[in-house]
Amino acid sequence: MSDKDLRFNSKTIHGGQSPDKAYGAVMPPIYQTSTYAQDTPGGHQGFEYSRSGNPTRAALEASLASIENGNYGLAFGSGLAAIDALMKLMKPGDEIVSTNDLYGGSYRLFKKIFEDFGLKFHFVGMQDIAAVEECINKNTRLLWVETPTNPMMNVIDIEAMAALAKRHDLLLAVDNTFATPYLQQPLDLGADIVMHSATKYLGGHSDVVVGALVVKDKELADKLYFIQNASGAVCGPMDSFLTLRGIKTLHVRMQRHCENGRIVAEYLKAHPAIEKVYWPGFEDHPNHDVAARQMKDFGGMVSFVPKGSSYDAAIAIVEKLKVFTLAESLGGVESLAGHPASMTHASIPKEEREKSGVVDSLIRLSVGIEDAADLIADLEQAIV
Ligand SMILES: *Cc1c(COP(=O)(O)O)cnc(C)c1O
Repeated sequence: MSDKDLRFNSKTIHGGQSPDKAYGAVMPPIYQTSTYAQDTPGGHQGFEYSRSGNPTRAALEASLASIENGNYGLAFGSGLAAIDALMKLMKPGDEIVSTNDLYGGSYRLFKKIFEDFGLKFHFVGMQDIAAVEECINKNTRLLWVETPTNPMMNVIDIEAMAALAKRHDLLLAVDNTFATPYLQQPLDLGADIVMHSATKYLGGHSDVVVGALVVKDKELADKLYFIQNASGAVCGPMDSFLTLRGIKTLHVRMQRHCENGRIVAEYLKAHPAIEKVYWPGFEDHPNHDVAARQMKDFGGMVSFVPKGSSYDAAIAIVEKLKVFTLAESLGGVESLAGHPASMTHASIPKEEREKSGVVDSLIRLSVGIEDAADLIADLEQAIV
């Protein structure tokens, strides 16, 4: 049976993996080496220098390709390093259309670094397909999609974006960090490139910073591999090992993240002191239909605004939480709370931020896999 025939919950464990050739180690050893002996110049066993390739990283990259139903995986030193490599496919004058409430760090990379290299970015609400099409012109090369969006939990129709990309001969890249391949597989929906901050759900234990790209097409993979090696933002063997270990339990963790996410979202929605809850599982969520079609479940990310919508009310809540830790990041086994306006999205100007709903009173929860009753009790004591 080839790896490709395995079901998702087996691919997380076995996809692209085989026992190590040296001693049959079931988990790939941490090949903590920068270089490899050659018996004659060029006479090596597949690895010559660890920026170009490392067996532990290769095992992770094979796993990434497998779980995203791609053919080629590339692992980087962070999610942003992966995006940085992808953007180097562009040339000065190229234009990129992206969503208006994307991850703050992606926005910063686009605006503060790549605009200086002659790229032009358009930010629109990509739930509105016509609005995306209006931004496309003869210079457009790439559609950059993040769905569900961070932190507003808008859902973008990947198939519709793929149709648009095809019609205008554009690349479609999807940041799949929030959903993970457990919930949606963008390559199967027509995307050319999937990107991950594996720091989040794939690693799953808040102990590494790693990024990933996965593609189906060989030519695109070759170009990205060239950039990965030429620019050099690879991840190390220890981090590759930890991420691979995380991926092996992705499906079990995601199942519980989704269950707990639903309980927390419904609790907040019924709470008299809460104004608004953003979670794509609600039937009255504006993109619920798309979410229900393209995602297997609705994930563990929930954002909300307390009544009165004041900055102080939001800060008071996040300071009182005890089981939820106030911290940046998401996707680990432990529950985290964040205040986007002052934390993850502080690099986006207030005016831009508020256009997409990231008001000063917004709180974002990464619902972990603790006992849901403890999470609810924690919210209960923090929200007054
Ligand atoms: C965290 C994150 C990134 C950036 O990844 P790093 O690993 O922190 O560099 C990109 N996109 C999304 C959606 C993220 O949550």
